[in-house]
Amino acid sequence: MATLGLTGPVLIVAGNSAIRLLSETWRRSLGEAGFAWQVCRFGGECSIAEIEGVKRQAREQGVRVIVGAGGGKVLDTARAVAADLDLPVVNCPTVASSDAPCSALSVVYTGDGAFLEYRIYGKNPDLVLVDTQIIAQSPPRLLVAGMGDALATWFEAKTCVEGHVRNMRGGGSSESALALAELCYRILMRDGVDALAALRNRSPTPALERLVEANTLLSGLGFESSGLAAAHAVHNGLTAVAQTHPYFHGEKVAYGVLVQLVLEKKPQSVVEEVLDFATRVGLPTTLAAIGLAEMRDDMLNRIAARSTAEGETIYNEPFPVEPRMVAEAIRAADALGREWQRRHGILAAG
Ligand SMILES: [Zn+2]
Repeated sequence: MATLGLTGPVLIVAGNSAIRLLSETWRRSLGEAGFAWQVCRFGGECSIAEIEGVKRQAREQGVRVIVGAGGGKVLDTARAVAADLDLPVVNCPTVASSDAPCSALSVVYTGDGAFLEYRIYGKNPDLVLVDTQIIAQSPPRLLVAGMGDALATWFEAKTCVEGHVRNMRGGGSSESALALAELCYRILMRDGVDALAALRNRSPTPALERLVEANTLLSGLGFESSGLAAAHAVHNGLTAVAQTHPYFHGEKVAYGVLVQLVLEKKPQSVVEEVLDFATRVGLPTTLAAIGLAEMRDDMLNRIAARSTAEGETIYNEPFPVEPRMVAEAIRAADALGREWQRRHGILAAG
């Protein structure tokens, strides 16, 4: 932060585990660098109420830098506060559970966890600091969720590039952006299983470091520079029913990837590579695995309607999209996942 010319006082927005893991580091390193700092304990949801509360505290204390330390929702809140107050933001993810850390957007939810809006900012974070020693102590399920978010990057990027749609910044994609998205996918396929094993041993092996790079940096650059499509729109749709709220963003996105592959009528080989990967790392491949063992038609209709709301990224798909085809694809993806489990003798979750 000092190298970048940032000056204090610093407000650190942090979740409980970040406070537990990093307080001593903050005391030492910020103290040595001469930054005054305070911690604002994160309330649990990146909601308008939370953002406004942190802004009040930042204003009262006259802070000059916002630091977000924790998971994606903490970082999204820190970024929203910094953008509104026109302050620099530093992100310190303590989990690799999504591609939020490097991006220039926040996903804002209602107080009870339903998707509300994307806020897109003029610039990306001033600094993203990832300590893989810290990531190696995070819960395995969060790393897996990050793989789900990263799994979508390549498929959504390719769809956007092939359809010549504008990226998240309103510009065209580039070869380099698409190459980063593809590298993201290759790292998942090659290192995902080993990285998960390393995390279970709390050991930042080279496979885990590469995987963290894929989940955090490549997925973030990939989606922002090329674009999102059906997978993330279906994720947003899934948040419309409360049964999915206990599941992480990346878990719902992973299911959205399957739905996107169905919608795009991708060849069996592509679908099977995704199903195989998802099964090996423990990502959901059925509705039951995201809390929807009993999917009533009214729920499905709500999900399909939210997935196809005006302005959704599902309209980056290269064909006209209607709620009914999305509803059918959501059921079809479930059938694929259950058939895969049956063929491979896997006991259904949920
Ligand atoms: Zn995402």
